[in-house]
Amino acid sequence: MSLTNRTLNPLKEVISTLNVLDLARRLVAIESVSSLSNEPIAELLSQFCEDAGCTISRFPYNAGQQRQINIVASKGGSEPYFALSGHTDTVGYSANKWSQKPLELTRAKKKGGYVYFGLGIADMKLALATSIVAVASVSTRELKKPVGLYLTAQEEVGCIGAKRLVSSKAPIAPYVIVCEPTEMAVADRHKGYIYFSISVSRNHDKHDQSARMWAHSSDDRKNTNIIEVILPLVLRELTAIKDHLRTIADPLFDPSYTTINVGVVGQPIGATKNVIPAAFTLHCDARPIPSMDHDMLLRLIEKRVADTVNSYRSPFLGETFTTEVKRQRKTTPFFQLEDIDPSFHSALGSPRMGYVPYNTEARIFADAGSQVVIMGPGSIWDAHHEDECVSERWVQPDVTERYISAIRAMCG
Ligand SMILES: [Zn+2]
Repeated sequence: MSLTNRTLNPLKEVISTLNVLDLARRLVAIESVSSLSNEPIAELLSQFCEDAGCTISRFPYNAGQQRQINIVASKGGSEPYFALSGHTDTVGYSANKWSQKPLELTRAKKKGGYVYFGLGIADMKLALATSIVAVASVSTRELKKPVGLYLTAQEEVGCIGAKRLVSSKAPIAPYVIVCEPTEMAVADRHKGYIYFSISVSRNHDKHDQSARMWAHSSDDRKNTNIIEVILPLVLRELTAIKDHLRTIADPLFDPSYTTINVGVVGQPIGATKNVIPAAFTLHCDARPIPSMDHDMLLRLIEKRVADTVNSYRSPFLGETFTTEVKRQRKTTPFFQLEDIDPSFHSALGSPRMGYVPYNTEARIFADAGSQVVIMGPGSIWDAHHEDECVSERWVQPDVTERYISAIRAMCG
């Protein structure tokens, strides 16, 4: 039986966990890592949306060699008044680190309860399945205003799809729920995001032939070991910057200050244990509070790291160091919804507004003129790592009901 047939049945029959799980299972089975074309999953989603009674508009674009497709599905008219939004891509994975098959939705016990394992199930294939079933469950007859679904590409690599979608001729709804995992709490803000690197390299003294870029470890009398000597200085300076950032608080966020994380220490190709290292790169992310100017923060880090490194007096003649702080990706601004429309607020089924500790497409829709909140099933803490899962709590019919009530309140 197709979804279309089900929509003719009484509501109780329509909203069964089976439907959501069936869709989620088929979505998980399609690998949709951001670096791949999302065409296979976009086509399956289009089919689901058509079965749900929607009209589909495709907004394709090319990202390098890959073709990506954003989809706008609408029901009850072509320009959605209210829309549920989700991304089609997932983060990358190593199958051998999983205890389950990543591309198979598997129910299993975890910490005393049952969960569903599967790549992207929390972020955010369960949300896609749930929102499509919710739209399917409201008949066109009930809709005074059109309801929509935005299904975007490449969210995990800088919200590229959503940016493309709003800059195309796609109709953007005045009210949008970004269905990222919040355990169905309503969030109306998140911090910004900056991915940057700090690189330090030793300068080779052309006049001194004995001092070489690649010095053998057996002779430590010619070069500074940049990892042993310079890296600790840079990390100490970063700690001091982080301490300073803790003093600039925004009580609307938790933690209330701008965080910086050194996630990866990178080395140039050829680096090995029997060579005295000449360079390193720290890959960092920062989560700035709204009042924090991204450019100013990076300039501050750049200056303080350079001052620290330059103040080091090398015992080796002519040896100097070069530092570089580089933005690795276009930064993502914070998102904060001010003055939510009372009708939208009451449609969400929860008076409380909260904060999510991760970045979303919300700001992109907000900049396009929408009122946006974030609300979706599953927990972000169960995503972005091996054995991604959702508690079976989030596949219960009341979750779909929350979206159905929102659709009825906004569009009925
Ligand atoms: Zn996500």
